[in-house]
Amino acid sequence: MNSQKQFKRRFSFEFFPPKTPAGMEKLQTVRDTLATHQPDFFSVTYGAGGSTQERTIDTVLTLHKQGISTAPHLSCIGATRKTLGDLLDLYKSNGVNRIVALRGDLPSGMGAHGELRYANDLVAFIREHSGEHFNIEVAAYPEFHPQAPSAEADLINFKRKVDAGANSAITQYFFNADSYFYFVDRAEKMGVNIPLVPGIMPITNYSNLVRFSDMCGAEIPRWIRKQLEAYGDDSNSIQQFGTEVVSKMCETLLNQGAPGLHFYTLNQAEASLSIWNNLGLDDREKIAF
Ligand code: FAD
Repeated sequence: MNSQKQFKRRFSFEFFPPKTPAGMEKLQTVRDTLATHQPDFFSVTYGAGGSTQERTIDTVLTLHKQGISTAPHLSCIGATRKTLGDLLDLYKSNGVNRIVALRGDLPSGMGAHGELRYANDLVAFIREHSGEHFNIEVAAYPEFHPQAPSAEADLINFKRKVDAGANSAITQYFFNADSYFYFVDRAEKMGVNIPLVPGIMPITNYSNLVRFSDMCGAEIPRWIRKQLEAYGDDSNSIQQFGTEVVSKMCETLLNQGAPGLHFYTLNQAEASLSIWNNLGLDDREKIAF
């Protein structure tokens, strides 16, 4: 390991767009708390179809004005070139210069694929439409995307996004550092030379974690699953154990060259910050990982 060490480390927090004014008020508090730790950027997820898209736009524009760069996620599934182009123009005119470019998933029973089929098509479209204005992040899957026909095909498809112009990647979350290192190794052997930043999911709730991990193809190792199961409804113990396990994994990742971390906050500050503080990331310039 690895040429990832050549990249400057960056640290970021991901939010989802709140559904209600009360949710937005809460997110504002979470954002203010996290902002005091000076992350490199925030990002806001985007749903395929429907009103959640408006909420992403509003949330991004509100947060971006407050001083820390905020990156919208943008998915192409179900979208037209025209709507995507208009949205890119809107973000650009508001000073947004980073985008997380995704294919996305259609809610079941909903419509057609749209004009761009895969994330590599979206990356190429962003470059065609907006030139080099945006720093483009794409998704990477150390444990492979659930729909990929094979591990090899998934890597080739990942590289298509890099070749189309992605500047860096954020991974799906994982609880096994080796899967990340193996992915980095394989990607680098294929000629990928961009930062591959681990996405980090703090553990706060067992049943939600299991449900979500089954959906997105992230594996919860048996020893973690069994321990979490044993805690039952004892959420303090779940969080304490989860923070310890995830902090140790992050330490390993950074020690062995990962170029930063991206936290899936689920709009909560505490769990991500416990890991952040365990790693001493407020003094990150001084830490020789
Ligand atoms: P792609 O890279 O297009 O890959 C999708 C599948 O198609 C893979 O199996 C791949 O192997 C295959 N494939 C890719 N390109 C080709 C090709 N050219 N030919 C044939 N096969 C191909 N979802 C949301 O809805 N909103 C979000 O905000 C969101 N944020 C995310 C953030 C991160 C960091 C991550 C890791 C995921 C996020 N997701 C989000 C989930 C993501 O949208 C889903 O995992 C989706 O199923 C795939 O998106 P992708 O951009 O990885 O797709």
